Amino acid sequence: MEYQHHKLIILGSGPAGYAAGIYAARAGLEPLLITGAEQGGQLTTTTDVENWPGDHDGLQGPELMERMKKHAEMFDVQIVNDHIDTTELNAKPFKLIGSQNWSCDSLIISTGASAKYLGLPSEKEFLGKGVSACATCDGFFYRDQEVAVVGGGNTAAEEALYLSRICSKVHLIHRRDELRAEKILRDRIAEAVNEGKIEMHWNSQLHEVLGDEKGVNSIEIKTDNKNKKLEMKNDYIIIKSGTDGMATSTSVPGVYAAGDVSDQIYRQAITSAGFGCMAALDAEKFLSG
Ligand SMILES: Cc1cc2nc3c(=O)[nH]c(=O)nc-3n(C[C@H](O)[C@H](O)[C@H](O)COP(=O)(O)OP(=O)(O)OC[C@H]3O[C@@H](n4cnc5c(N)ncnc54)[C@H](O)[C@@H]3O)c2cc1C
Repeated sequence: MEYQHHKLIILGSGPAGYAAGIYAARAGLEPLLITGAEQGGQLTTTTDVENWPGDHDGLQGPELMERMKKHAEMFDVQIVNDHIDTTELNAKPFKLIGSQNWSCDSLIISTGASAKYLGLPSEKEFLGKGVSACATCDGFFYRDQEVAVVGGGNTAAEEALYLSRICSKVHLIHRRDELRAEKILRDRIAEAVNEGKIEMHWNSQLHEVLGDEKGVNSIEIKTDNKNKKLEMKNDYIIIKSGTDGMATSTSVPGVYAAGDVSDQIYRQAITSAGFGCMAALDAEKFLSG
């Protein structure tokens, strides 16, 4: 089998991948960046990005990712469209197999994460118009409004608590009669319930997201097999608990992981870009022996 060899390969074209590409190219590593199926990563699935420092004037996610791509190209990062299905990392050079075969001396894995959605057609219809998978990213758009969060694990509990500090009320919809979240989070949720900031909807499932061209205006939930409509004056933000990691970080020397793929906590464009920068610097150090 023939492999196209590169000193450094970067997997992923999100903020982590492009930042790593820019730093590695400027360090003379001539990196190859493999975009994966989702070119530009998660930010291409959203609209307003209000927390990217220096951009305060209606920055859109897809536009930011296009600019990052151009920035990487400006420094001659070689960008190819491929999706890697198999890696062989137990011997040097590392081997990556997609629609073509690649090998490298060092590898940066920045394959990100995907938000977990419920899979309702109406949820998809209102994505970015009241439905979101990221409270830190989008909660600010719903400040002082009523919002709903779906889920009962740690992520849902954390997102609900975060929103309870900026929104007028949070409806937490959970299909069981107790939360799976860890005790400290359960205690904080109970406190917020006592203070009237969170209302629990036990044994409930989101049945339908309803709205019009302006966005979401209500949701229908099923509680103990009975349908109930939650009307609210304003939009909702609906967050399913948890995200699916697409790859794992690695302890193999020469292989680095950057961005959401290795970050269980912050998961922001800026933190991912920061990790991309760090991974490129680490790869450079590794390659220079
Ligand atoms: C709806 C939504 C709104 C958001 N809004 C904001 C916001 O306003 N501000 C903010 O800072 N953050 C926001 N985020 C979070 C932000 O998008 C992520 O933190 C960031 O994109 C993570 O960057 P990343 O480079 O780690 O990975 P990603 O952006 O997830 O990119 C991963 C890349 O890896 C590629 N890939 C995956 N598997 C493979 C493979 N096997 N082979 C090759 N390539 C592969 C994909 O194609 C993709 O290009 C939002 C997220 C969502 C879902």
